[in-house]
Amino acid sequence: MTSDPPTTSRALATEAVHAGREDLAGLGLHAVPIDLSTTYPSYDSRQEAARIDEFAATGARPQGPPVYARLDNPTTARFETALARLEGAASAVAFASGMAALTAVLLARSSQGLRHVVAVRPLYGCSDHLLTAGLLGTEVTWTDPAGVADAIRPETGLVMVETPANPTLAETDIRALAHSCGSVPLLVDSTFATPVLQRPLEHGARIVLHSATKYLGGHGDVLAGVVACDEEFARVLRQLRFATGGVLHPLSGYLLLRGLSTLPVRMRAAAGTAAELARRLAADPRVAAVHYPKLGGAMVAFEVHGDPHRVIADVRLITPAVSLGSVDTLIQHPASISHRIVAEGDRRSAGVSEQLLRMSVGLEDVDDLWADLDGALSGRSARSARTAVHAGGRTAGRAPDGSARVSSPAVR
Ligand code: PLP
Repeated sequence: MTSDPPTTSRALATEAVHAGREDLAGLGLHAVPIDLSTTYPSYDSRQEAARIDEFAATGARPQGPPVYARLDNPTTARFETALARLEGAASAVAFASGMAALTAVLLARSSQGLRHVVAVRPLYGCSDHLLTAGLLGTEVTWTDPAGVADAIRPETGLVMVETPANPTLAETDIRALAHSCGSVPLLVDSTFATPVLQRPLEHGARIVLHSATKYLGGHGDVLAGVVACDEEFARVLRQLRFATGGVLHPLSGYLLLRGLSTLPVRMRAAAGTAAELARRLAADPRVAAVHYPKLGGAMVAFEVHGDPHRVIADVRLITPAVSLGSVDTLIQHPASISHRIVAEGDRRSAGVSEQLLRMSVGLEDVDDLWADLDGALSGRSARSARTAVHAGGRTAGRAPDGSARVSSPAVR
């Protein structure tokens, strides 16, 4: 939806709470209404025909009620307005997932005859796979930021980077990369940063993509994607979304808008804890390397000297699960899960080692999180098994092989 610029320039924290909701008071409402309609009554089919023709010709959001929910939805449109405002974009278009959003961008460019993509590793595993496997008929050249200018060809439709990148948290200078792209649009997947920490369009990127499943939703209960861009590209994306059907459910649109209102507070709190955990991990002899972005943020990656699978098996407060950006802390082993689908050699050369763990820090107390990490790094289940054997009793954790838990006093 096209973002209505506010009359005065407002801070991000203010926009996060108010953008997309400006008309509510006039409607006599305080909470955002959820429109679950899949279709909309109209007694004037000539007028509907004109509205459909207009959308087919331009891709502009239809004025008045949508014809059909696959075309547009007022609740989701509020989220789009708000996200566009936070990113400093003219428009934003929401999708059913981050992968649906990326698919739409790739199809939009290849439908214009620009099937070649230049991309910088690492990317999220499924994004890498979508490009490497050429599932959408695109062709990819992988390079580092310094090689982008040379990799661009006449049929290049997109340059793609994640910064900070999943899972290594590698950072790219967006302005320098945008310069290397010339007239080819640079897409920045800014999922890890969110507009609280980084606004790629201000640095020359032309397209910003989020897996809104992560920080924008913020509570681990919404699957969504969103693209922030200029209105011209948004129109192509809307037409593609209508034709291919990867729309966001309005309830998700509602939850995302609600998520945005606490995004700045959540990001600041989680980032403070993440920075402290990164500091403690870096000082710990059981840890070989820590990756924490200069930009800040709530993601920490670290490589352990010991068995990373043991750490995953031994956390108790932290949840061993893929995904990120929720209020609770999650940890996962990228080589086994988020980046499993990437060929082993490509993973390794992108810095995704077998020793690497990726942690999404939530809103818990830092000392509680550290106590849990400390226990997991020390191999708490092996220790408790030994203690139990010495005591001649049943183990209170996992068996030494990491399999069945005999009794379950552990807190999750
Ligand atoms: N981009 C990044 C950086 C991600 O981490 C993910 C998912 O983990 C995606 C895109 C894909 O998003 P989704 O899972 O919402 O489809």
